Amino acid sequence: MSQNDWQELEKKLFFRTGNRVPVTLIRGEGARAWDDQGREYFDFTCGWAANSLGHCPPVVVKALEKQARTLIHISDQFYTVPQIELAGLLIEHSCLDRVFFCNSGAEANEGAVKLARRNGKLRLKGAYEVITACNSFHGRTLAMTAATGQTKFHEPYTPLPVGFINVEYNNIEAIKRATSEKTCAVLLEPVQGEGGVNVPDDDYLQKVQSWCREKGILFILDEVQTGAGRTGTLFAYEQYGVEPDIMALAKGLGSGVPIGAFLAKEEFSVFSPGEHGSTFGGNPLVCAAAHAALKYIIDHNIPAQVKRVGNYFMTKLESLKQQFDFITEVRGRGLLIALEFNQEIAEGLVLACVDRGLLVNKVKPNALRFMPPLIITEKEVDKAVGILGDVLGEIKK
Ligand SMILES: *Cc1c(COP(=O)(O)O)cnc(C)c1O
Repeated sequence: MSQNDWQELEKKLFFRTGNRVPVTLIRGEGARAWDDQGREYFDFTCGWAANSLGHCPPVVVKALEKQARTLIHISDQFYTVPQIELAGLLIEHSCLDRVFFCNSGAEANEGAVKLARRNGKLRLKGAYEVITACNSFHGRTLAMTAATGQTKFHEPYTPLPVGFINVEYNNIEAIKRATSEKTCAVLLEPVQGEGGVNVPDDDYLQKVQSWCREKGILFILDEVQTGAGRTGTLFAYEQYGVEPDIMALAKGLGSGVPIGAFLAKEEFSVFSPGEHGSTFGGNPLVCAAAHAALKYIIDHNIPAQVKRVGNYFMTKLESLKQQFDFITEVRGRGLLIALEFNQEIAEGLVLACVDRGLLVNKVKPNALRFMPPLIITEKEVDKAVGILGDVLGEIKK
């Protein structure tokens, strides 16, 4: 079938939940992917930042092959080794003590909020409300739609589950004002990803943590997008001098396999048997793959490389900003970066980049987001920035 045939068929078969870029990808390797016409692309979208080690990383492929021949799935009433090994690695390298594995970022946040509510019932006189931020993104379940502080996601589905208050991001006073005897937790992204790559002030998370400790409420970080090395440290919280009480992970954790997790400090790990569970969560196949990916990220100090190449990328984008006056801002941390314009040109730029072999994401009508694989090199960044420069140059004319 030709490219058009696949894309026509897709239009007949699926709900219209989103608009796809007109490319049918069939193969990938590292930072590159190929479509069904054999065209090559640099992939700076990375499966929504999930392909942390790029496409088909050999360590993950090997772990999947081996585990697929050994044991693919069992129910969570039994012990299984890959799950325990992955848990050990996460606990050893984070400030948290216990973990639950699930299948996605939304589920990880759901679990985090359920644990916060258990704490509310047991320690905070039934407090259940969770304060979250405007422009946040926490997932697509009904409860996480309510947690997500963007009205465009709320409107199609009201009434939403109760118990979430959205307040301005990067504003400690807004959190203080929203806190009441009903509050059990604050849930924030260390850097807002889907909301446009919004980086808070350096001391914001510290202030939030102090406030949570003062009030005895839980400090939850959604590191679904920022975790597993994306921002230049294994977890973004390390850069802000804080330690969350609960943390949610997914996306890059499995380097392309669907896995999520939430972790908590011992004193808040108050679930009793039967209070939470998952059919596929922590399945041996995905855990073996995630263990291989995470071990590679840690053993090869990939976060340090992310910091170096991320800074290099930002410097290159800053020089584009000097060249083109319609670029208003370059912002980000590590390899989670946005380029903002004073016009709504992101859609056209995405398509123009596709034509020249670069895949990027429109994070807002006036902003592009770059989330290349963590293993990208300076040379590959140069190529991408070259293409971007050409595309921006045509806009100017
Ligand atoms: C993508 C994302 C989610 C949702 O993850 P899914 O796997 O799509 O459910 C939640 N939180 C953040 C910060 C995200 O970036």
